[in-house]
Amino acid sequence: MTPQLEISGLTKRFGGLTALSHIDMAVDGGEMLGLIGPNGSGKTTLLNIVSGYYDANGGTLSYEGAPILGRSPHELARLGIGRSFQVTKVFRRLSVLDNMMVAGLSDWRAHRKEAEERAHAILKDLTLDRLAHAPASSLSGGQAKLLEFARIMMLTPKLVLLDEPFGGVHPELKRFMHDHIRAWNEAGVTIVLISHDMGSIFGLCRRVVTLSYGDIICDGTPEETRNDPAVLDAYLGD
Ligand code: ADP
Repeated sequence: MTPQLEISGLTKRFGGLTALSHIDMAVDGGEMLGLIGPNGSGKTTLLNIVSGYYDANGGTLSYEGAPILGRSPHELARLGIGRSFQVTKVFRRLSVLDNMMVAGLSDWRAHRKEAEERAHAILKDLTLDRLAHAPASSLSGGQAKLLEFARIMMLTPKLVLLDEPFGGVHPELKRFMHDHIRAWNEAGVTIVLISHDMGSIFGLCRRVVTLSYGDIICDGTPEETRNDPAVLDAYLGD
């Protein structure tokens, strides 16, 4: 079976710094994969390339069997690749509902009613429906994180890349977010999760890839990762 995402020899340099060095990695449809590593190891850079925000200096990237390097974030979103950002990117001056509508694609203009119904259903699921007409600037930090999840769902993604979604989130909200991530995955959505929160990574993911200085130093189960001396070394040197 062709993996959903296939990364081969992927290399990214920033000036003299090699942020990713010949990365090879395959992700099957329906996986829940954790991506960990000390600060600066290349996690966000990898996500930025897969979601079309950065170009690469070498290597190939294919999604559902087709090459995608060089495609724009918008095109990739259309193909079903959704992502969140470490710092939420909601449009603060727009209402919550309008944030959902702009997350959608232009052809929704012709189907505004259906899109709005869909937006309301997703907001309800994330307990944001009563805030649909409030400006996004009035949301708390946690609510803004949920809105970002809601916007990703608006695109009916097949692969979701989450970059530190739990940063600054209180434990109750974190559990709520865990439940949603699990529910997406159970519905067949592939998840790639970057987090420094090892409890979340080991609790949610069946496979964990560890980066250090732009190299994959471990690719295994949570158990294998926890017991890998190279992983321990990388974190101790952090
Ligand atoms: P992580 O997400 O694991 O903390 P990053 O992918 O953010 O790591 O960064 C990997 C390396 O690439 C770091 O040394 C970082 O400083 C560098 N880097 C990331 N983005 C840029 C950029 N836009 N310009 C220059 N250097 C960058």
